[in-house]
Amino acid sequence: MILPIYLYNHPILRQKAIPIRSITPEIVTLAENMFETMYQANGIGLAANQVGQRHAMIVVDIRDTDEGNDTPPLCLLNPRIIAYSDKQVEYEEGCLSVPGIRELVVRPDQVTVEYDDLELHPQRIEAEGLLARVLQHEIDHLQGIYFFDRISPLRRSFLRNKLKKLERGIAIECAYPYVHSSVNVEQ
Ligand code: ZN
Repeated sequence: MILPIYLYNHPILRQKAIPIRSITPEIVTLAENMFETMYQANGIGLAANQVGQRHAMIVVDIRDTDEGNDTPPLCLLNPRIIAYSDKQVEYEEGCLSVPGIRELVVRPDQVTVEYDDLELHPQRIEAEGLLARVLQHEIDHLQGIYFFDRISPLRRSFLRNKLKKLERGIAIECAYPYVHSSVNVEQ
């Protein structure tokens, strides 16, 4: 089932995810739906709070990109970054919850991530390049962090008008179903 994607500035996107301690049918269905939703929106990563769920789950699939040929689709429960490379790289990021905005973000080039799979077995992945980038972006979501929180205050100030428009629900260009918070729609 394709789920609507929650857009900036819905409160759930600022909330921290809750760890998953048991695998229920609901969790398995959520994983399936998150993959389907990500593919329909042409995304390469999605976090559960982007579809309105506070479970600590992300899905990633970069096979359609230049760097993704031998990377299988991944579903990570309770992911946490346990090591970063000193080397940092700049890359232009976008976000399904922040349509129409892209920004260069500096992040470590390599990360080691520990997580649980869909049987709650502990796993570890060493990632670099685009995969490391997507993992960091999605794990940030589970902490309530947007990619634009990681750019300089000056660069963020240039985004202010665009973010205001998005927050107010003005001229949203979104080719996928979405949820927009009406909490902030007032002058
Ligand atoms: Zn995102």
